Amino acid sequence: MMSLFSKQSSNTEDEFRHARRLMVERQLAGRDITNPDVLEVMRRLPRHLFVPSDLQLEAYEDCPLPIGYGQTISQPYIVASMTEMLRPHEGMPVLEIGTGSGYQTAVLAELCGQVVTVEIVAELSTQAQRVLKELGYANITFHIGDGLMLPEADERFDGIIVTAAPETVPPELIERLKPGGRLVMPVGRVSQDLLLITREVGGKVTTQSLYPVRFVPMQRNR
Ligand code: SAH
Repeated sequence: MMSLFSKQSSNTEDEFRHARRLMVERQLAGRDITNPDVLEVMRRLPRHLFVPSDLQLEAYEDCPLPIGYGQTISQPYIVASMTEMLRPHEGMPVLEIGTGSGYQTAVLAELCGQVVTVEIVAELSTQAQRVLKELGYANITFHIGDGLMLPEADERFDGIIVTAAPETVPPELIERLKPGGRLVMPVGRVSQDLLLITREVGGKVTTQSLYPVRFVPMQRNR
């Protein structure tokens, strides 16, 4: 873990820590994020390591940032909100579609059990794997490919987070929810909404529209 930090002077590290505290106070707790575990993890995680080096000073701003290949790291508030909707807890198996920078992956790896994360752009997955391994996470499984075509067809999850928007809800994702499981994802083409889809213990599936969002469109491997 230290090798990543030793590149920065401790002065800069203090500034990043300060920026992180402000991010949590103003953008998360100052809005409607209340889960203390989510707030604690985001106060601690070095988000600046997940953005291109020339954007590190902007890593704690209230916006998404470009990470290359036409993709973005999500706005901190969106990461916090989606994580909170999932009701994360220790030992919970989760699936993430759209590894991107790996920042959301790290938040999930801190709060849940095994995290399976899938990314369709190989270069982004490789870069995320490098950072996450250097930070010491041992509970993340990485896949490169289309998240809707995972090889382990029968694997089921208590939580699924999708960070790229398909035009409609893919039924194969609902199939992957365990009873009681929660799926948080953006859906739509011109305008998108964040949806919370829950599979009740009895099997009934309910869909709740949370708020309008803007994510990159989901890509498909054909
Ligand atoms: N959570 C990431 C968000 C990255 S943007 C972060 O905060 O950094 C969404 C990501 O989803 C992009 O990296 C994009 O390449 C990826 N993606 C798009 N369609 C996908 C698919 N079908 N399967 C897996 N990943 C996909």
